[in-house]
Amino acid sequence: MSESLEDLTRRARACRICVEQPVGRPLPHEPRPVLLPSSQARILIASQAPGTKVHLSGMPFTDASGDRLRNWLGVTREEFYDLKNFAIVPMGFCFPGQDAKGGDLPPRRECAPAWRAPLMELMPQIELVLTIGLYAQAWHMGDARRGSLTETVMNWREAFAAPSRPVVLPLPHPSWRNTGWLKRNPWFEMDLLPFLKMEIRRRLAASRSK
Ligand code: SF4
Repeated sequence: MSESLEDLTRRARACRICVEQPVGRPLPHEPRPVLLPSSQARILIASQAPGTKVHLSGMPFTDASGDRLRNWLGVTREEFYDLKNFAIVPMGFCFPGQDAKGGDLPPRRECAPAWRAPLMELMPQIELVLTIGLYAQAWHMGDARRGSLTETVMNWREAFAAPSRPVVLPLPHPSWRNTGWLKRNPWFEMDLLPFLKMEIRRRLAASRSK
């Protein structure tokens, strides 16, 4: 019998690959995988990796990035953490640690090859993937990805209209570190965000009526 999403999630939450069989340097702390897969949600938030606050809370987006992301989506905390609405599965489940300048390291490269494809297979109901940042865009967007994050996000209309299923919509990371990027790219708040809010509202209403 094939594994259920619940069992696979349980195994992922107990994962120790990055300390026991790391590619390169081991994770500098005990693993704490943070992911919220769902067999009901039709929208997947494909994010990057937990930061320090999320590492402590064990819940995705319990930080300023989460506040900004909820604002972008136009949803309350309650709606955001409702597994009937959103699955939240980052590209790396554990906080990867920080570099010498205090910036978060990229998602652990062991994670997606180990877990992503089987998790996606057990969430066939996902209709829309919000690809947050380069790593999620590289994994989920295929030909709809462009040379840089800015070009990929700028190309959002074409990406969204592509015939691939699930549909994808690229976003930058909502981190405060991207505040400068948001200022340099005003089309994001003027064009993409109103569309995103409308699309999320429409899809949540449609799921409730099913
Ligand atoms: S980052 Fe992923 S692969 Fe590495 S220990 Fe955490 S769950 Fe396992």
